[in-house]
Amino acid sequence: MSLSPLQIDMDSANVFVDGTWTPSHSADRVLAINPATEETIGRAPDGDEQDVDAAVRAARAAFVRADWAKTTPRERAGYLRGMADRLEQRSAEAGEFLTTENGMPIAITAMMNIDFGAAILRYYAGLGDALELEEVRGSTIVRREPVGVAGLIVAWNGPLMLAIAKIAPMLLAGCTAVLKPAGETPLSVAYLIDAAQHAGLPAGVLNVVTGGRETGARLVSHPGVDKIAFTGSTQAGRAIAAACGEQMKPCSLELGGKSAAIILEDADLDHYLAQLPIVSMGGNGQGCVLSTRLLVARPRYDELKGGLRDTIAKLPVGDPHDPATVFGPLAMERQRDKVEDYIRDGKAQGFEVLTGGGRPAGLDRGFYVEPTVFADVDNSSRIAQEEIFGPVVTVTPFDSDEEAVALANDSQYGLGGSVFSTDQDRGVEVARQVRTGTIGVNGYQPGLDAPFGGVKQSGVGREYGPEGLDVYLQAKSIYGARPQG
Ligand code: NAD
Repeated sequence: MSLSPLQIDMDSANVFVDGTWTPSHSADRVLAINPATEETIGRAPDGDEQDVDAAVRAARAAFVRADWAKTTPRERAGYLRGMADRLEQRSAEAGEFLTTENGMPIAITAMMNIDFGAAILRYYAGLGDALELEEVRGSTIVRREPVGVAGLIVAWNGPLMLAIAKIAPMLLAGCTAVLKPAGETPLSVAYLIDAAQHAGLPAGVLNVVTGGRETGARLVSHPGVDKIAFTGSTQAGRAIAAACGEQMKPCSLELGGKSAAIILEDADLDHYLAQLPIVSMGGNGQGCVLSTRLLVARPRYDELKGGLRDTIAKLPVGDPHDPATVFGPLAMERQRDKVEDYIRDGKAQGFEVLTGGGRPAGLDRGFYVEPTVFADVDNSSRIAQEEIFGPVVTVTPFDSDEEAVALANDSQYGLGGSVFSTDQDRGVEVARQVRTGTIGVNGYQPGLDAPFGGVKQSGVGREYGPEGLDVYLQAKSIYGARPQG
């Protein structure tokens, strides 16, 4: 079935509250800038106190209203499937829009946001079909109840996917929510609202207030919000956790990373190099789980360096709407500034620039940087310890599996990671020793039925799997509910 394109209001003065696009109280706007052309493509409200308050009130009212509060998990699963159906119908169109909004290559935007997003919705719908939220233990009824009104705050690198990873379990649990997209990607959320409306989601169950950090901070501290789910930087995560602590409000945090790819001496280097654009440099290097610290067994070190140089030279950099493009622009100017600052620092430290290190020739407009590899990098250096969030990787040799594990664990972060070895068991054994929330052997392919999230400074709580549902539920015990004979 073909649909007419979604009419997105590119100069929006509205927030989505209680089932309708309604005028924002705020006169301020956030700008959507096409990072490939540097042109402003649209505007949306920079939501203020009143906008957040109206959205939270709508979510609170919907939480207790019978058309939502009395639904069963199976009925709520139906809404998830309805949203997935609609998103899939608009997949190609939404992919193009997202690429214009954040500069991610068209080869991955629809796959990452729509196809994967729909899969998340369908996964939780499947859980919902068999979900029992009440059980009897002796004389006690143990219930798992929805935590209430959730505040959902996400980053710009996967605007819809990151939101859906929260919305699907939130809805299945029976919560309601206010979503705040990233200030830089305020428009693509219209595809989500279209899907929710198409699915017939009751008014007020999902509300959206666009805006920047201040809008997010208002949502976090609003007393009508019962729980926060956040994806973004560790720095913001700390501020959010502190604000939630003040109110004893639970929060789940998906934060930054600086993960290691451990390339053992028996690794198939061609296999790693074929996966490099996804595992270590995917999404223009703007991925929280990327294995950006390459730790390489010394006997294979020079071979890998040559392979990296040859492989990266062949990967197309340019127009993100071209299906062949592997590296588009960074999502915004401040991100390019930040990445270039790290590149300068790596050079100043005297590390070998294996490839890249500047801006690509012939691309005068757009926030482009060359994919860059620094070799012979000291793991304690700034470029090996801090999250760069751009197409920049470091390479460091090691002399034993033990040293590889020690280097991988010498990080404040622990989100992703990967181990490459032709001996699968050996790869798994090394993976067991890395302190991280997720890790792949000979690749990195998250599964929806497995928990995803970080340890150390990479986060608190998990998404995906039954664990991703748990953060939207709270236990209640009703003692003496079943008097014992
Ligand atoms: P950011 O933390 O600055 O912003 C992310 C979101 O939080 C935006 O919506 C922003 O408006 C909001 N925000 C910022 N400060 C806030 C505050 N004090 N209170 C409430 N809301 C606030 O992140 P960024 O730098 O724009 O995004 C990139 C970061 O996101 C990277 O560190 C990356 O690793 C991380 N990320 C993590 C995951 C994951 O699953 N762990 C996924 C994607 C991105």
